[in-house]
Amino acid sequence: MSDLKIVYHPHPALRWKSKDVTRIDAQLKDWVGQMFELMYQARGIGLAANQVALPYRLFVVNPTGDPDEPDQEQVFINPQIVKRNGSEDSEEGCLSLPEIYGPVTRAERITVEAFDLDGRDFSMELSGLPARVVQHENDHLDGVMFTDRVTDNVLAGLKPLLDDLASQMGHMQEDGRLGSEDQLIAELKRLEAERT
Ligand code: ZN
Repeated sequence: MSDLKIVYHPHPALRWKSKDVTRIDAQLKDWVGQMFELMYQARGIGLAANQVALPYRLFVVNPTGDPDEPDQEQVFINPQIVKRNGSEDSEEGCLSLPEIYGPVTRAERITVEAFDLDGRDFSMELSGLPARVVQHENDHLDGVMFTDRVTDNVLAGLKPLLDDLASQMGHMQEDGRLGSEDQLIAELKRLEAERT
């Protein structure tokens, strides 16, 4: 089975509006295991499938970020945020945008419905950091980055860092470490077709 890697801005997977997961099989479970590993290695607390170039609606979360607390791990498959209340500003980062941080307004409390890795549906009421993480990861599934939700002023300040990431990706494409834009998009379409 293939090894996943975290992809960085402006990889086209990060702008992909993903399709629902249609089956939970050994391949999907293997991917989820790899996503947790990559998330812990990168010291994150959430990771969406788009961030490993998989065009499916799922993400993993462990609000403690601690691999020694596996009981805090949660897999969200085909999630839907069905209720949002209140609003709160807080600084966010993203494993696909290393070293980039900015304040984002999110709902303070949410209700999210999803399926777990056993295909069972569940509903969760979340507030504080877990609510923020789920809103951030859920955005990824629609191709939305947190930098789309910061003020124009903040975005202007982040622009040089975003440009840096874009030029790093350009170099990787030039020396063949990463496929061309067309190849990356073709691969996303292939993966999408494979599981619909
Ligand atoms: Zn992110």
